[in-house]
Amino acid sequence: MRWWNWAGSGNTWWGIEKRAASMKSTRPETAGLKAVMVVGQVRTRRTGRRRCTVSSALLVTALFLFLYGAGSIQAAKTPGDVALLERADRARKALLSSPARMKYRHHWERCIRLYDRVYKRYPQSDSAPWALYRSARLLTGLYRYSGSTKDLDEALKRFKRVVERYPQHRLADDAQFRIGEIFYKEKNDLSSAYVEFLKLDIKFPSGDMRPRAQAMLDRLASVISRKEEARLRKEARRRGAVHVKDIRHWSTPNYTRVVVDLDAPVKYTSRLLKPDPRIKKPRRLYLDLRHARVSKDIDSYIPIKDGLLKAARAAQHSPDSVRVVLDMESVGGYKIFHLYDPFRIVVDVRRSAEKRKAGPSRAERKRKPRKGIRRADTSRPPVSLAGQLGLSVKRIVIDPGHGGRDPGCRGPGGLLEKNIVLRLAKIVAARIRKEVGCEVFLTRTRDVFVPLERRTAIANMKKADLFISLHVNAHRNRRIHGLETYFLNMATDKRAVLVAARENATSEKNISDLQAILNDLMLNTKIHESNRLALKVHAGMVSQVKKKYKKVRDLGVKQAPFYVLIGAEMPAVLVETGFLTNPVEARRLTTKTYMAQMAAGISRGIKSYIDSIDQVYRGG
Ligand SMILES: [Zn+2]
Repeated sequence: MRWWNWAGSGNTWWGIEKRAASMKSTRPETAGLKAVMVVGQVRTRRTGRRRCTVSSALLVTALFLFLYGAGSIQAAKTPGDVALLERADRARKALLSSPARMKYRHHWERCIRLYDRVYKRYPQSDSAPWALYRSARLLTGLYRYSGSTKDLDEALKRFKRVVERYPQHRLADDAQFRIGEIFYKEKNDLSSAYVEFLKLDIKFPSGDMRPRAQAMLDRLASVISRKEEARLRKEARRRGAVHVKDIRHWSTPNYTRVVVDLDAPVKYTSRLLKPDPRIKKPRRLYLDLRHARVSKDIDSYIPIKDGLLKAARAAQHSPDSVRVVLDMESVGGYKIFHLYDPFRIVVDVRRSAEKRKAGPSRAERKRKPRKGIRRADTSRPPVSLAGQLGLSVKRIVIDPGHGGRDPGCRGPGGLLEKNIVLRLAKIVAARIRKEVGCEVFLTRTRDVFVPLERRTAIANMKKADLFISLHVNAHRNRRIHGLETYFLNMATDKRAVLVAARENATSEKNISDLQAILNDLMLNTKIHESNRLALKVHAGMVSQVKKKYKKVRDLGVKQAPFYVLIGAEMPAVLVETGFLTNPVEARRLTTKTYMAQMAAGISRGIKSYIDSIDQVYRGG
């Protein structure tokens, strides 16, 4: 949409320097738009004297009569909303073509009121979103003169209203873009800007504003990560060197996850080196960690030998930096990201597709798979587009949240989230096996601690087709209750950030730092499928629970950056099965009936997701 050409030659007024033009407000003390304007009274700057211009009052009256008359004549031909909108447009054009007028607040407010009239009288008409959108643009322009954040916030409110009330309208994605732009250009709030542009990318995938939003996301991601680096450098100077505490790994012949544990956040770079036969070095991937040291008490050489990686080793590369090297035997692709609290760098390494088809390597044939981990199933011929996209569902991993030293949230009478979800997971697994006929694995079957990054590693190693993490919710307000389902993405509301911070055992601040890394990871994540899975599972769960219980609140499908979902290579969702802090739901969560309903609902949701794959990708 390029409707903003209305300002004459492009949107030239956009570039007007805020300071260059001084704003003369008729009522500086009440910047709010609801204030009644005193037409014809202008306080001149030089004298501060009020000059009552009777002639201008008369003129306005005459103008009003004229326009009213013209309006009623026009109404006979055009619908009322269109006539009103045209009138507002004329006023706006007159304003924006006159720099002298733009200096006075009341001229802006008059235009905005004209648009308000369209929106208020004809909220269902096609003119309403146009009026809202244009008034929001005017408020943004007004802000450039007034410098009043009230004007800017009012503009934001109106753009949001366009998105929320008219989501199908062609202006909805434009409004969403303007919201991001305001956070970026006017408020200099990069994190919020990122989230707003991301919303456009997700909500309006076929909108014409998407390429512009994606360009903004790229730009912001690099700015945010540069800022984060600067923060880390500052922190490192203050605290001294960061220590590599441990290197852990989980592996199968086709997939390996290596985790480097550190005692504080660190800046790092990575590089893939070609094999060098002269010095008998295999292909290797290295990470350089700045301002870091290797703790003396850790094993700095870890043999892996799983057919993918030979070994991982860490060494002091220079007095100020540590190099972690992964010696590779055969690698298709790799992915590096980090998580916080405690800081850890995760490297996922996967075998290339051709190698996998070619059958197991010598190392694989020699090695027995690790206990509990199945050998990769390579005998699945893709039969449909869904199959080719890897969307058939044969194996599901259910993840009961928390466990061991991590109890999750607490409820009345010593109720713990970790116990409830473990019990529930077993019931859900049995139900899915019976009704869907899939293989189902749990990430834990006992009360043990499992790190978040281990849980997706399990799902990746098992080559699971779906990953479902089960949790119980908490809120400071005991009255809050209901069911909600999440998929991995940037949080689009405040409460989602809180839920993610709690489940990640991290601060809200670190949630915003996740944005830059998420952007890269998203490329390989099945967001769209995860979203569909979340919708199906959620609908199944809510409708099933509603059959037996009254006052079941549907909190909907949401998105947030959950650590436990990051790095999952299959559609993955996190289900919050009720609030342990709400007395009614806490009681329900301990009963067999509730768990059975929940299991039936989730299982039904999965089934309907599987059925829908065939529908969505039919004919492939
Ligand atoms: Zn939880």
